[in-house]
Amino acid sequence: MRIGFTTSFPVEVILAAGHTPVDLNNLFILNKPENYVDMAEKDGFPRTICSWIKGIYAVSMEKCVDEVIGIVQGDCSNTHSLLSTLELEGIPIQYFSYPYPKDRSKLMKEIERLEEIYKVSYTQVIEVKKRLDQIRKKLIHLDELTWIYNKVTGKENHTWLVSSTDFNGDPDQFEKDLDEFLCEVNDRLPLKINLRLAFLGVPPIISDLYDYLESMNTQVVYNEVQRQFSMPTLCDDLVDQYLHFTYPYSVQDRMKDITLELERRNVSAVIGYTQSFCHRQIDHFLMKKYIKIPFMNLEGDQPGVLDARTKLRIESFLEIHGEN
Ligand code: SF4
Repeated sequence: MRIGFTTSFPVEVILAAGHTPVDLNNLFILNKPENYVDMAEKDGFPRTICSWIKGIYAVSMEKCVDEVIGIVQGDCSNTHSLLSTLELEGIPIQYFSYPYPKDRSKLMKEIERLEEIYKVSYTQVIEVKKRLDQIRKKLIHLDELTWIYNKVTGKENHTWLVSSTDFNGDPDQFEKDLDEFLCEVNDRLPLKINLRLAFLGVPPIISDLYDYLESMNTQVVYNEVQRQFSMPTLCDDLVDQYLHFTYPYSVQDRMKDITLELERRNVSAVIGYTQSFCHRQIDHFLMKKYIKIPFMNLEGDQPGVLDARTKLRIESFLEIHGEN
């Protein structure tokens, strides 16, 4: 079966059961996302609901997946309603919850429940995890090629890390493509960077954001949430891995990771990205309070390219904080 999901969760279980994981966010954003938003609004989704939710709804309605797993705690406040809507449309649904507050035994129970649903043993799941960790090690190398060696662009870093939520549905092919990319990168000269940036928040809905930043000789050397999606801690234990994953827990969990990475990556300025109508805007208000380097809030709404006003705002921010 092709099993769609709404954010990163223990994908090892799905692969161990022989199914194909499909990150519905990636499916939405890579395939004419404007059309999917239109489709959802025509079906009655209000204008004041986040575009990602509308996109996930619309791609699920196209029946390109056989079942949807909604992450009902630790991701999005809209997921319960989204799942109800899909269920009423006849789409089989399952759910997964990250415990709040973070709790090892509750998370373990939740993973065991998933294993029961998909009829796999913990041993089978751990075997898959070991396989995926071989690929994740290569993604760590790709990340280092971004922030230590300046050979991978922020956009490339974003694309690879965000794709590791479902390994494009085929981990073996993903690894092959990654090997080829890493081989090609080896021959590159380091990029000239005027300003080292961090991108904090959910992946952007704006298609040309990274291109625009790069056109101004700046590079994103830290993609916070995308890096978290790639599970860079490589814990031996599956439960530990999903306890270290900061995205589903508190803003304090995220801040510990962010503070460490901003420092070791020598980041000079931060772009704090939020999505219109998203509850995570509150987290960014807190982040801005505690991060002591220049911080620019950027809000995305509809899928598409940067508008002129936002370009001007970014340009001014980069000019003020760039090292000319
Ligand atoms: S951006 Fe926010 S509101 Fe939109 S799907 Fe993600 S968590 Fe939900």
